[in-house]
Amino acid sequence: MAEVNTGGTQKFRRIAIEEAFTIPEIADRTRAMTHGATEWSLDKVFLRNLYPDADPSKAKGGISYAAQKLQDLSDGRIADMDQFGVDMQLLSMATPGVQMFEADIATELAALSNDRLAEAIAKNPARLSGLACFAPQDPASAAKEMERSINTLGLNGFIVNSHTDGEYLDEEKYWPILEAANALGACMYIHPRCPPNGASSSYRGYEGILGSAGYGFVVDASIHAIRIMVSGVLDRFPNLKFCLGHMGEGIPFWFSRLDQIMGMYKAWGHLKLELMPSEYFKRNFVISTSGVEDHLTLQYTIDKIGVDNVMWAVDYPFLQTGPAIEFMDTAPISDADKAKIYGGNAERIFNIPKL
Ligand code: MN
Repeated sequence: MAEVNTGGTQKFRRIAIEEAFTIPEIADRTRAMTHGATEWSLDKVFLRNLYPDADPSKAKGGISYAAQKLQDLSDGRIADMDQFGVDMQLLSMATPGVQMFEADIATELAALSNDRLAEAIAKNPARLSGLACFAPQDPASAAKEMERSINTLGLNGFIVNSHTDGEYLDEEKYWPILEAANALGACMYIHPRCPPNGASSSYRGYEGILGSAGYGFVVDASIHAIRIMVSGVLDRFPNLKFCLGHMGEGIPFWFSRLDQIMGMYKAWGHLKLELMPSEYFKRNFVISTSGVEDHLTLQYTIDKIGVDNVMWAVDYPFLQTGPAIEFMDTAPISDADKAKIYGGNAERIFNIPKL
């Protein structure tokens, strides 16, 4: 077992950067929408598993167990961190967060959850940091909340739980959000969400197994990032920084193919882009290891995008802390690289004070 952090006794500062939470107001509304729903969606299949009971404290085992842990922003969470030697969690709103709600309610609940997150961090500033959420449903209000989250609440960046009603941040109506992120110089984590209704027929017959973390998550998060790369918004906002989980949602594996095909479209004049997809990725994206605990994939990803762009994550409470530590502790890389992935890169990218 890893040593408990008692201040400088560990070899590496471990900052886990894709760690989920929610607040009761968002959990209750999500549960009510999910169970009262007459309309079917992949989100609702996933969320019925996550919130199977009106009272999450009655849920036992499996994914539903995570529903209780999501709302714990103090003792239980810190105890898990202590048990395994995690120094800090960078918290973010659990998928799909406020992005299923009507615009006004979503905007209000995003602000409430950012306030609660800031309060939790204020109580445990050495152990917790966090990403602000916002409601893309109202881009102008979202931009204001983003500014407040960084400049007033002191949060460390942003999270968007991928699509909003089947739309992605490259679309012009969402540019106020990209402008705000660019101006604030804060990184935006594109976390997965179940694919939208327009894409859901591909999962028919396997909704519960493939519609969310089984595969739908990676499909939706990766298409979100690729849309941003081919849309030209990274020429308009060249300083934007996005983070993808799950070893970059597989995108580094596709660099050769993406550059080849997009290079053809560029040559034909169908795409007006300054850079190739792999060049945008290396300039504007960073990644976390969350849930891809495979040393060969880690080594490949480091080779493709550079060790300075790779960060460690657990994906608590959906995944277990122990195996995520074991994966990184035993990774066949230098201690200097391990120190960057475990914490040094997160300090720089998410503006977390060094110890
Ligand atoms: Mn996650």
